[in-house]
Amino acid sequence: MPGYREVQAIVLRVQEHREADRRITLLTPEGRVLARAPGARKAKSRLGSILQPAAMVQATLYELGRTPTITGVSPIEAFRPLQEDLLRLSAAQVLLEICDVTVGEEDAVRPFLTLAKALRRLSEAADAGAAWIAGEMELLTAYGWGLQLSRCVSCGGELEPPLRYPVDLGGFVCRRCAREGGVGASPEAALALQAAARGEAPGSAAKEARALLHLTWQAHLESPLRSVAFAESVFGES
Ligand SMILES: [Zn+2]
Repeated sequence: MPGYREVQAIVLRVQEHREADRRITLLTPEGRVLARAPGARKAKSRLGSILQPAAMVQATLYELGRTPTITGVSPIEAFRPLQEDLLRLSAAQVLLEICDVTVGEEDAVRPFLTLAKALRRLSEAADAGAAWIAGEMELLTAYGWGLQLSRCVSCGGELEPPLRYPVDLGGFVCRRCAREGGVGASPEAALALQAAARGEAPGSAAKEARALLHLTWQAHLESPLRSVAFAESVFGES
């Protein structure tokens, strides 16, 4: 049935389409929607200026055929600092890509609210690196893959180094459980993830902590996140 529908959404992806249009991937509380934004490539298009990656919007969709058309849009929150700071924007792109490629979204309300919170934090936090890590960890939890960081995930004991990170177990294993396999991990990386989860600075092993998170996503999504390499190049060793 053709008809109009109002949705609250976060713009995950913007693609050029034909001479004047764009295709916009939206994350709504009900899940992902691919929609057409007619005329959005034109310089003076209101749709085009508002429908930018990471923006939270109220959109009117006209449903006819397979791809709905966005007929109206108003900004709810633009997260302006993300658009103006390459460091924050590059981390935001990773969070957006995660929500764009993740499957199994029967309960999309949680990813939607979690992404909104993560983008707000990334936009406002003093430490963009901590906000990036915290956002990814909360998204893992929202999709049902949350990490358990305080104890060994195999025996439940103290995390005695040397640690290993078996990607499919959702946390670190202690020295005694090294048979579980996984990649070697420094105790500082475990501390970095714990600190970021508390909203604190991840410290010296932030880069290693991000690498573990990205291995985790890769295991669940079965392909690497394409936006990670660029974000890592912007963040460098920090
Ligand atoms: Zn153990």
